Amino acid sequence: MAERLRNYIGNNWQSSAGNFLDVVNPASAQVMVQVPLTPAEEVNKAVETAAAAFPGWRRTPAAERIQCLFKLKNLLEAHIDELARIITNECGKTYKESIGEMRRGIENVEVACGIPMMMQGQHSEDIAPGIDEYVVRQPLGVVAAITPFNFPGMIPLWFLPYAVATGNCFILKPSERVPMTSNHLFELISEAGFPAGVIQLVHGNKDTVDALLDHPDVRAVSFVGSTPVARYIYSRATANGKRAQCQGGAKNPVVIMPDADMEMATKIIADSAWGCAGQRCLANSVAISVGEAGNIFTEYIADAALTRKVGYGLDDGIEMGPVITQDSKARIEGLIAKGVAEGASALVDGRQKTVTGYEDGNWVFPTVLDRVPADGELARTEIFGPVLSLMRAATIDEAITIVNNRSYVNMACIFTRDGAIARKFRYEAVAGNVGINIGVAAPMAFFPFSGWEQSFFGDLHAQGRHGVEFYTQTKVVVERWPQEWSRQF
Ligand code: NAD
Repeated sequence: MAERLRNYIGNNWQSSAGNFLDVVNPASAQVMVQVPLTPAEEVNKAVETAAAAFPGWRRTPAAERIQCLFKLKNLLEAHIDELARIITNECGKTYKESIGEMRRGIENVEVACGIPMMMQGQHSEDIAPGIDEYVVRQPLGVVAAITPFNFPGMIPLWFLPYAVATGNCFILKPSERVPMTSNHLFELISEAGFPAGVIQLVHGNKDTVDALLDHPDVRAVSFVGSTPVARYIYSRATANGKRAQCQGGAKNPVVIMPDADMEMATKIIADSAWGCAGQRCLANSVAISVGEAGNIFTEYIADAALTRKVGYGLDDGIEMGPVITQDSKARIEGLIAKGVAEGASALVDGRQKTVTGYEDGNWVFPTVLDRVPADGELARTEIFGPVLSLMRAATIDEAITIVNNRSYVNMACIFTRDGAIARKFRYEAVAGNVGINIGVAAPMAFFPFSGWEQSFFGDLHAQGRHGVEFYTQTKVVVERWPQEWSRQF
């Protein structure tokens, strides 16, 4: 029988689960481990352990709290190769992509080490004669994050470092499809010296999440995943009086102007559309070429699709891995068929392909659908697979109208050499993240990750200052110390 993973509660590895799920390598189809589906009683224990640890952690000076994060940063650097291999084996992306993911995660640990300064308040003397007023930031208590399958190393680190640096106790519920990365991350956390109860791990699925959402001691919930689940978690968490920040799905357009550097644009858009097998919330999934850009871009991008090397992500030279499950493969292939039924032509068709030696893997090869109707269902549905839909527009205004006619408003990109066109696009595009001659406009850790509309429920986003504000509450103090009370020592 495959090894059974455990939770990390009170600095001990344990599990009381009666039910487990297989964790399957998406390239080889081999069962690697089993993940526990943690029942509510054990979730409650994790929350109570965190609540008990909170007063002591909160009183630990911020400059001391970050010493554990410095250690964690060094441990992550030292173990980046193992972490990347685990990510590739459970998530499917290539080794290089897994290393890149870990780098972006580590960057958040580095930024959170600046908390002693980022958490500072403000002070005004003499708001009235002899009266001062100031604001301090205090931690909330126990906070939780629920994370998706596609970045098992990076996304937990969008939250964990800021939550604990600001003095909260943190519980992670990672995706049940990729739990091994979290277990390895927590092996490193156990070496970094955090007191018992400050950082905990509970595995599971919906019931585990619901127990976190309903526990009165969980004060804030961070979520990243699909839009229907984001909406559900935001509703249930806020109805229970918690803070919530819930990041959802995406459908990211890119506009190619006739003056774009076509070779550069093609390479970058191909990496965006097919990197991580299109399972990135910042993947370009719709390419809108303007005017005469259409013919040349179509030719170049079709060639890039045909030549991309697909296979097991730890093998040499592989540029794209499998999708996460057989269900995902079937869903993506169904959506390609739907696009064709709506009138698109499959210029490059990635269905019914396989990789020698890995015949049971979840393979969908790079796909290009040409002339996808802008008013069809496919144009608005999140595919979350290696499929690029091509559309044409006569002018930049028409292209911006297509860009803005969607509800998953995570990112929009443009490729052009014209500064005025780029400015117009940046100004008018409805999108939380904009890329100009960039294919994956992923904010650095010191900027917020700003999805809008159906891509985000909440107000404060992940990372940087938004993370600090989300995990702290402001207390305003107004104080008077009359001179005549002084004993004049
Ligand atoms: P998902 O919504 O299926 O799962 C995300 C998490 O929610 C997992 O931990 C899962 O166990 C839990 N969950 C699933 N169903 C639940 C339910 N009914 N009740 C409570 N919890 C539930 O998402 P996924 O398939 O793991 O990830 C892919 C999705 O995430 C895509 O839609 C992608 O666009 C999105 N995503 C968004 C961002 C972003 O920053 N906006 C980043 C990465 C991924």
